[in-house]
Parts: sequence; C-alpha cells; structure tokens
Amino acid sequence: MPTHTTNADLFARAQRVIPGGVSSPVRAFGSVGGTPYFVARAEGPHVWDVEGRRLVDVVQSYGAIIAGHAHPAIVEAVAAAAADGTSYGAPTEREVLLAEEIRTRVPACERVRLVSSGTEATMSAIRLVRGATGRDRLVKFAGNYHGHSDGLLADAGSAVALIEADPSDPTAVPGSAGVPRGAVADTVVVPYNRVPELDDTVACVIVEPVAANMGLVPPAPGFLAGLRAECDRVGALLVFDEVITGFRLGRGGAQGRYGVTPDLSCFGKVIGGGLNVGAFGGRADLMDQMAPLGPVYQAGTLSGNPLATAAGLAALDLLDDAAYTRLEATARRLGEGLAGALGAAGLDVVVPVEGPLLGIHLAADPAVDYDTARTTDTATYARLFHALLDRGIALAPGPYEILFPGLAHDDATVDEVLAAAGDAARAVA
Ligand code: PLP
Repeated sequence: MPTHTTNADLFARAQRVIPGGVSSPVRAFGSVGGTPYFVARAEGPHVWDVEGRRLVDVVQSYGAIIAGHAHPAIVEAVAAAAADGTSYGAPTEREVLLAEEIRTRVPACERVRLVSSGTEATMSAIRLVRGATGRDRLVKFAGNYHGHSDGLLADAGSAVALIEADPSDPTAVPGSAGVPRGAVADTVVVPYNRVPELDDTVACVIVEPVAANMGLVPPAPGFLAGLRAECDRVGALLVFDEVITGFRLGRGGAQGRYGVTPDLSCFGKVIGGGLNVGAFGGRADLMDQMAPLGPVYQAGTLSGNPLATAAGLAALDLLDDAAYTRLEATARRLGEGLAGALGAAGLDVVVPVEGPLLGIHLAADPAVDYDTARTTDTATYARLFHALLDRGIALAPGPYEILFPGLAHDDATVDEVLAAAGDAARAVA
C-alpha cells in the first residue's frame, strides 16, 4: 500500500481522533515510550511500516498469526470467501467445518460455539458456568488475562498490569476504572501455580494453562491436575483459557499437552487465521444449556463470520504434526540464543520456553507467579525494546507480553534476531 506519510504524522493524527491514537492500549508504546510504527503491510515474518521500513516481527498479532503474515493459503481462502459475501446472519457450512475441526483436535469440546473474540469466548463461558452450576463465585489467577469483560478484569496481566491501582482506595482490585465493584464482587483472585482450596460456592476456576500475559510462566508440575481434582471435589467447573495456547501448544493445545481435561475451553487467535474470531466449547450437557437449547443467552451478529471461518480453516489446515515440531524447534533455538546473547552482555535474564512459546524475564530468577513476574526490569525492557527496534526487530511494546515464533521464522530470520539481540543487549547493559 503506497503511502506518503510518516509514523509521527499518523500518530499525531490518530491521537486527535482515537483515544491515545490506538485501537488497543499496549500498541501506544505507553510503557516503552516513543512513537508506534504504523504498519502498511506484512508478509511472512516481516512487517513494513508506512515509511517503508522492514521489521522482523516476533509479535505476529499477539499470536493470532501462526503461519506468517499474508500466508498465500489464508489470503486465497479469505478472498474466495469474500467474493461470496462477507456476512449473512445465517448458518454456513464453514462454521460446521471449523467446529468439527476444533472437536477433532480437542475432543473435550463435544460442542463448540463460535464468537468474534477471545473476550467474548471467556465472558460467555463464565456466564455458562454460572448458569449451569447456579453458583456465582469465580476463581481466577493473578496475572492471568482473560480479555476485558468486567468480571474478569481483576488483577489481570497484559497491559492491565501497567495500570496503577488508585492509592487512595486500598480495597480496589487493580483492573480498570468503570468496572463496578459489584461486577468483581464474585471474582476471587488467587496466586498462580498454587492450587487454591475451594468451597461449594465456587462456580468455576478459570486459568491460562500456560500463563502468557505476565511474561511466560509455565504451570508447575501437578498444578493443572491439582486444579482438576480440587474442582471435582467441590463440584466446581474448570475452564481453560486457551486463547493463546489453543492450537499453538500442539494439536490439542494445553489440555492435550498436559493431559488435563477441563469442562470448558476458550479459544481465539489461531483459529481465526488473523481475522476476528473466538470460540468456546466443552461437554455436550453443559454446552447444550446455551440458547437456543437452554436458558443461557449469548449471541453475535458476526459470530461464525464467513471470512473468519475461512481463514481459520486454512490456518488449521497448515498445522500438522510437522508444523508443531518446527514451531518448537524454532522457539528452542530462539530462546537459547536470546538467553545466551542477553546474558553474555551482562543482563539478568531468564528466557522460559514452553513448546512454541517464549518470554523474556529480565530478572535473575524465573517467575512462578504474578509477584515474581513483576520483578522483571521494565525500564531495561523498554531500552532493549528500542535498541532492537532500531536494529529492525519488533518485540511487543510491553514487558509482560511474550514472543510468538511462527512457521515463517526460518533459521536465517532467527539468526537475524539473535545477532541484533546481542548487539542491542550490549548497547543497553
Ligand atoms: N485470553 C487470553 C489468554 C488472551 O491472551 C487474550 C488476549 O490476548 C484474551 C483472552 C482476549 O482475547 P481478545 O483480545 O481476542 O478479546
């Protein structure tokens, strides 16, 4: 797309018409400072900004992209779908195919409902567990992010972690202004990686099976199985938020990898191939309590959108066993290389790698929960972010986001990132 503008010009214009100049907060570079780059186009592992600058992109739309930008199979599928119309408000074959594909890969999803974002998936799943159990209380983990619905916006990670709590209000749960106290009154926040003791007022425990919004914090051995057992003990339901891990951590997501089966699962990102999608699914007896069969209401004009389902099906079609082997190998190589390059420059760094996911934790010791995740050196992250950006590498502009190596990051691209990382780390150490 030819443009005659600059990032600075666009950001100035954007700020006059869009709050903070962005459609989602972390993109504003608030915690790292500076002017965001405005993307003109993207291909494979690269994005180009409006000034024509090429960046190696390890953000990959925060995990919505797994096969690289503008993958020909996905572009073709979307173009073909668009030619037949962009939305009908009526059922389509592709919705059935996508739901079937999800069920095949994640057998616990006997039924699947398609929505338009991860936020909608978790929000609707919570409504379903409350409707199904007749209980209100939900348990979430500090530093886990489940989208921006009111009841889940308590002690959340990702960009919410950058919002300061109101110091004059000692009872406030750090989250967001505008969330009524009542909306989080039934939300209990507990530390990640410790199995909480529940009672029979709890409707559900919702968890990121691999925490990926406070940097990357893998589950401690036995944590997920412990949650399953504790939920069963008190008749609470277990909800896995697999919006990041789903179809990325392996064919069957986190539940396939760790062998722990939740009652409900939430998805997004990968299953939309870069378009707006989300899904939640689980046991038939639970899911069949959704309208129109049951009393739990949820709906969406664009749910199961023809373009999104076409893109999602094309993306999943690329994700065979060989693809997952490659993704893991790339993440391992990138993780080891980054730990080596940053450590050699004298930075305190831990680079956790879990399957194809990796994080950069700028501290001497690994993070195991939100408190330890927040020991990451955010000022050094900001300097490292800019030093890398100056060298043509785009990390996420927030210290609690992770890296998303994908199928388009070949060895040469990883080498380019590692060479820049060594150089950047020496510049900031
Ligand atoms: N759940 C998790 C684990 C996420 O990481 C995110 C977004 O990053 C969401 C839910 C919300 O998804 P969306 O941004 O599509 O609403």
